[in-house]
Amino acid sequence: MKIGVLALHGAVIEHIKILRAIGVEPVPVRLPEDLEGISGLILPGGESTTMRKLVARWNLRGPIMKLANAGAPILGTCAGMILVAKEIAGGEDPVFPLIDVTVERNAFGRQLDSFETELPVPILGDRPVHAIFIRAPIIERVGPGVEVLARLPDQRIVAVRQRNVLAISFHPELAGETRIHRLLATMAAEFAEPAEGAVATATEHRSIGEAM
Ligand code: GLN
Repeated sequence: MKIGVLALHGAVIEHIKILRAIGVEPVPVRLPEDLEGISGLILPGGESTTMRKLVARWNLRGPIMKLANAGAPILGTCAGMILVAKEIAGGEDPVFPLIDVTVERNAFGRQLDSFETELPVPILGDRPVHAIFIRAPIIERVGPGVEVLARLPDQRIVAVRQRNVLAISFHPELAGETRIHRLLATMAAEFAEPAEGAVATATEHRSIGEAM
């Protein structure tokens, strides 16, 4: 199974290494055609303003929205979380408005620019995640249908999921944490090979296509 990593800018190689480590074939995505045949996509950390510009420059917005709307799982980490939010505090336009949240960029301010903490993420099991925050965003508002996956001790929200889209403020890939990528891979496997009834339909479509 193949999972793409948006490879325009940012912490790309780290995600590629984690995907390899869990037995998934990573595909660096730079052009719309790179999205063909992937079952999920990671939007890495970096600078969301830079990624926003490069996404527009390489005409990736429409094709990535199409992939997400088809149900392929998407994981946004840090700047990637900003990219998938429906609303960005301060009024910047959304890039991929996929999760009904409002995100605040650089939410920890100068004093706490970067920090590491042991973060409970119950969906990943009892062992907390070693979470690395680097000029990280937080979720200010969650809409109905958004599942909160993790909060800091002060209750600020740092991980969410809405249907097939996961967004987290921190960098699991820098801590050698594999459980979030494994969750994405499980979701991607379900997308690639849906439940039995759906497979039959897909096969029918394929044979219809071949007959034409
Ligand atoms: N501060 C960056 C932004 O606002 C995100 C930082 C990161 O991805 N580590 O885009």
